[in-house]
Amino acid sequence: MTLVNDAAPPAVRSTGRKFRAFTAKHLDELTARARLSPDERLAIRAVATVLPFRTNSYVVDELIDWSAAPDDPIYRLVFPQEDMLPAADVARIVDLLRRDAPKAEIDAAANAVRVKLNPHPAGQMQLNIPSFGDGTLPGVQHKYRETVLFFPKQGQTCHAYCTYCFRWAQFVGEPSLKMAGDDTTRLYDYLVSHPAVTSVLFTGGDPMIMGESVLRRYIDPLLDLDQLESIRIGTKSLAYWPQKFVTDPDADDMLRLFERVVASGRNLAFMAHFSHPREMESPLVREAVRRIRDTGAVIRTQAPLIRSINDDPAVWESMWRQQVRMGMIPYYMFVERDTGPQDYFAVPLGHAYEVFRDAYKNVSGLARTVRGPSMSATPGKVCVDGVVELFGEKVFALRFLQCRDADLVNRPFYAKYDPEAVWLDGLRPAFADRFPFEPAPE
Ligand SMILES: *Cc1c(COP(=O)(O)O)cnc(C)c1O
Ligand code: SF4
Repeated sequence: MTLVNDAAPPAVRSTGRKFRAFTAKHLDELTARARLSPDERLAIRAVATVLPFRTNSYVVDELIDWSAAPDDPIYRLVFPQEDMLPAADVARIVDLLRRDAPKAEIDAAANAVRVKLNPHPAGQMQLNIPSFGDGTLPGVQHKYRETVLFFPKQGQTCHAYCTYCFRWAQFVGEPSLKMAGDDTTRLYDYLVSHPAVTSVLFTGGDPMIMGESVLRRYIDPLLDLDQLESIRIGTKSLAYWPQKFVTDPDADDMLRLFERVVASGRNLAFMAHFSHPREMESPLVREAVRRIRDTGAVIRTQAPLIRSINDDPAVWESMWRQQVRMGMIPYYMFVERDTGPQDYFAVPLGHAYEVFRDAYKNVSGLARTVRGPSMSATPGKVCVDGVVELFGEKVFALRFLQCRDADLVNRPFYAKYDPEAVWLDGLRPAFADRFPFEPAPE
């Protein structure tokens, strides 16, 4: 538990450069490396006026296989694609860029495309922000009784952006789309008045974009709250900037903060987002995982299933095996949410189930801690358990892993099979006239 001071091995130290972000203004230079034509590059710049783009030197130099770009999965993970948006929308913005139109005009055109992309799916804004005292609680979502999500204000960006991100709306700079909080006292008071809450999940963006001195100010007060059994941190930093835990100036302080959480008698759970096995290959990631685990923190892993990036059972099998080797615990496979360029990345539920099963059947029980494919939908997290024939009818067997109504958790229910369906709202109930989460008719 006290390995935070040991020096990183030489192979690791040499890759520990300072964080350097690349944004839309570097896009043309970077896409040229993928051997795209000037027209293709302009179309990508047009897409990047609508959807956020950000990557960094580690992703560009260590993760992307440029000889395989633009088809390389890590390239596709961070670089916008021309066909992510409707062709007419892209053409309109390409035309503005080509004419060097005023920024305000380009922004207006980009905004018009954004609002068509369901920026806040699953009632995130309306349903989950609690009211407290004489107002609401910005930066807090409380959907399931035992867990509160907290979006710290300084943690609302990431070391790089995933093209499929369901939180993309937060990154495009429209204040009305943001939800973030910095009031630790109000969070603390809210938790005290909700003793059923046993877990706080820091999310974003990526909370690990924060320095130790900022994260500490959020975490330390929580350690006085006896009701909390766990603190979770949802992060993609292990994939996008493992230097955070190895060579960054405050890496050791960060690990000491983790040790304090563990020493306080709580589970510190790292909910690590890995989309592809490539992200676990570098010696730097391995060192980062080792150092985090040495603090007593537990690393659980999760990712969405994304067409053209990881829609292959071999990719998931390899990912789960490698995670188990490294001492991480596979946790969720998600279905891509109904927002942003979902049409582009969506995998139909029937196929998602096949990918999950084909990977799951080949791994040991230690990797079968993973659950999925799971949809974080308005009523809760719905897992596709299978496609079966019952009473001569082909149906999806479904189950809530998590539900606003705790009483529905883990009860099977059924939907008519539909090979095209990509989300819960595209499904119809089978053997019943409504789903269990739908209100009974008057
Ligand atoms: C997934 C999720 C949680 C955590 O659920 P677990 O089943 O405990 O992992 C909490 N709140 C929201 C809104 C979620 O989507
Ligand atoms: S790391 Fe997470 S929050 Fe950040 S862009 Fe990727 S999916 Fe979105």
